[in-house]
Amino acid sequence: MAGFSLALDDDQQQIRNWVHDFAERVVRPAAAEWDEREEFPWPVVQEAAAIGLYGFDFVANAALDPTGLTLPVALEELFWGDAGIGLAVFGSSLAAAAIFANGTAEQHGEWLPQCYGTADRLMLAAFCVSEADAGSDVSSLRTRARLDEATGEWVLDGAKAWITNGGIADVHVVVATVDPALGGRGQAAFVVPPGTAGLSQGTKYRKHGIRASHTAEVVLDGVRVPGRCLLGGKERLDERLARAREAQASGAAQPAMSTFEATRPAVGAQAIGIARAAYEYALEYAGERRAFGRPIAEHQGIGFLLADLATEIDAARLLVWRAAWQANHGGLHRGEGSMSKLKAGRVAVWATERALQILGGQGYTRDCPVERWHRDAKIYDIFEGTEQIQQLVIARALTGLRVG
Ligand SMILES: Cc1cc2nc3c(=O)[nH]c(=O)nc-3n(C[C@H](O)[C@H](O)[C@H](O)COP(=O)(O)OP(=O)(O)OC[C@H]3O[C@@H](n4cnc5c(N)ncnc54)[C@H](O)[C@@H]3O)c2cc1C
Repeated sequence: MAGFSLALDDDQQQIRNWVHDFAERVVRPAAAEWDEREEFPWPVVQEAAAIGLYGFDFVANAALDPTGLTLPVALEELFWGDAGIGLAVFGSSLAAAAIFANGTAEQHGEWLPQCYGTADRLMLAAFCVSEADAGSDVSSLRTRARLDEATGEWVLDGAKAWITNGGIADVHVVVATVDPALGGRGQAAFVVPPGTAGLSQGTKYRKHGIRASHTAEVVLDGVRVPGRCLLGGKERLDERLARAREAQASGAAQPAMSTFEATRPAVGAQAIGIARAAYEYALEYAGERRAFGRPIAEHQGIGFLLADLATEIDAARLLVWRAAWQANHGGLHRGEGSMSKLKAGRVAVWATERALQILGGQGYTRDCPVERWHRDAKIYDIFEGTEQIQQLVIARALTGLRVG
């Protein structure tokens, strides 16, 4: 951890203030309306694009920061504004991260800008992994990709479930099985370009929280994509499959689920944004609301709760920043990415529930944002790896055993 510092440099402070200003001025005032409408907040994302917050350049610059802290710092502020709108702004980046991690330089050049489009012509992207019968257990995906040798095209068939931006995105990145006998090792990721025939939106889900973010099924019916849409290319896939077959023949264990370790602190930072919003709201309320002749914050039961809230949120942020920093300095070896997401998700769920308690009856009404934050927080125990899957990754990393 030599060199780890909690001090943000001038650029990072400027970015934090810039995102906070947008979250406070534009996102917060729009949050209740888009939650009620349960629709994708196009005008807000448009405004984010106009100032450069929604776009490839912003994400690329943040991801290139050598300390690793810029992205979590920016995300905490955006999601402090509102998590549903935050995900509408950030959702395309899940697909962009998959293209960045698995694609060649030519594929980066072709597809990454199309994940976002421009301020004049917004584009969206979706990362399609989960299926109705394969959420945590991603090794059992049924969506198939077959190579049509005659045309060199890949043909995708299947159905994806719970996809952020699914069906309304321009670019869909789809993970499919090339060799089902190899389980998770027999899969590959494909870009489905804008307007490709055979890809359609299925049911749009009606959700408990983050309702401004669009979540839907994606149906793939004989979707044909050119060979250049296979992320990483055919040669790399063939080598990977050959290695997987050898490992299977020798009985070698499948590597631990570590693909998402490096992106988990960014998800944790989103959860902290919600927790902090709820804590700040409760702190202010507790200073003003009077019961038994004095502000409720003076009652020890509430004062101590505020102390616990601040402590837990800071602890979660420290884990997120540590993992974000370590991902860029020698890597994550003890499940630190999962630890940060596990802790931040739990803290967000707990903190929003406790903040609602501090608000009393007020907190239980839809006019109070804490009610919405309480609903929004729960997703952080579920997506991008559930609470239990984080525990699994950490336990395996710590013991080196097939905990399961
Ligand atoms: C709003 C939303 C947006 C989403 N966006 C996307 C997206 O953009 N792209 C995408 O691909 N997916 C997305 N998902 C899917 C999400 O990643 C999955 O819902 C999640 O991985 C959990 O899978 P599941 O729902 O099938 O639950 P299951 O895997 O069925 O899990 C059910 C329960 O069993 C537990 N469990 C499962 N296996 C184990 C085990 N081995 N040990 C202990 N407990 C276990 C889980 O922790 C959970 O509590 C989204 C989901 C939601 C709700």
